[in-house]
Order: sequence, then C-alpha cells, then structure tokens
Amino acid sequence: MTEPFDLKAHIRGIPDFPKPGILFYDISTLLRHGPAWRAAVAQLADAIRPYKPDILAGIESRGFLVAAPLALELGLGFVMIRKPGKLPGLTIGLNYALEYGTDRVEMQADAVPKGARVVVLDDLLATGGTMAASINLLRQAGAVVPCAAALIELSFLEGRKRLDVPVETLVRYE
Ligand code: IMP
Repeated sequence: MTEPFDLKAHIRGIPDFPKPGILFYDISTLLRHGPAWRAAVAQLADAIRPYKPDILAGIESRGFLVAAPLALELGLGFVMIRKPGKLPGLTIGLNYALEYGTDRVEMQADAVPKGARVVVLDDLLATGGTMAASINLLRQAGAVVPCAAALIELSFLEGRKRLDVPVETLVRYE
C-alpha cells in the first residue's frame, strides 16, 4: 500500500472560474509538485488495481493527465475519450445533457477489444454527466466497465448516484 499523502493540500479552489459563482478545483498545483503527483498516481493505482483492468480510458483533457501515468504504473495501455471531431478514423459518439444544452463524447470505434475491462478516469467527478456518458460510450464499444475513478469528487453534487459502477476517488469535497 502507498503511504498516505495530503493531496488536498496540493489542490486549490479558484473562485469565479470559469464563470462567476463557480469554485473551480485546480489540479495544476498538484501536477507541478513531483512527490505529491507521484503519490496521487500511486494511490489511484492501488484503488483501481483490484478491478483488474485490461486497459484504461481517459476523458479529455485532464483525464488524459491521470490515465497516461496510471497506465504506465499498471503496465497497461490507455485510450482517449474526446470531444467531437478530434479523433481520426472511424469513431463512435454519444450526446449527453448539460445544465444548459448538450455535449458529446467520442472514441475510436476499434479502440478496445470486445469484452475488455476498461476503467475510466477523469480528474474530477462533479454531476457525473461526463462520466456516465463515457461509461455508456465504452459499453457501446463493447467494453466492460468495472470501475470509474477520479482524483477529486464533489460529493455534494452526488455524481456517483448517476453511475452504475463502483467509483474510486482520492479527494472529496462535501
Ligand atoms: P460533470 O460532468 O458535471 O461530472 O463534470 C465533470 C467534468 O467537468 C470533468 O471532465 C472535469 O474535468 C470538469 N470539471 C467540472 N468542475 C471542475 C472543477 O472544479 N475543476 C476541474 N474540472 C472540473
């Protein structure tokens, strides 16, 4: 097991970003601190290892920052879940509702083998909409999703209630 490390001390809340009234949790300060970032990756690796993933998926864009080092740590590959129009070749996509309007996630149609166990990662779980859409997209691609994980969880938004898989997070804000 990895030694506990005070990750919260390395995450800052920035008020009124990107809009007035929103408190944005910024992982830049965690990323730029080598030992804290290494500890975060190691702790997340410990949390998701029991789900026995075959491959990881990262959600654009900060989810890539989480999925890539974790894939190396676990000796796995990782695939990208991206915003529309970014991926070459044949893609599949899924639209999902936002508070105002809709958004869309896409992935390459052949990104994961049928039946592969894919753990999906993002930097932060808020309402769970992005994660729920990504899980459904992975299933559309033929994957089994044993777990979703993020560095940060805004627990008061109850995003995990929208997800039908176990959720692993390292830092929670009530
Ligand atoms: P959700 O779909 O409401 O769960 O929002 C999660 C998505 O929005 C993730 O991809 C996050 O990167 C992003 N996000 C929402 N709030 C924050 C924040 O405070 N800090 C960083 N990313 C955030």
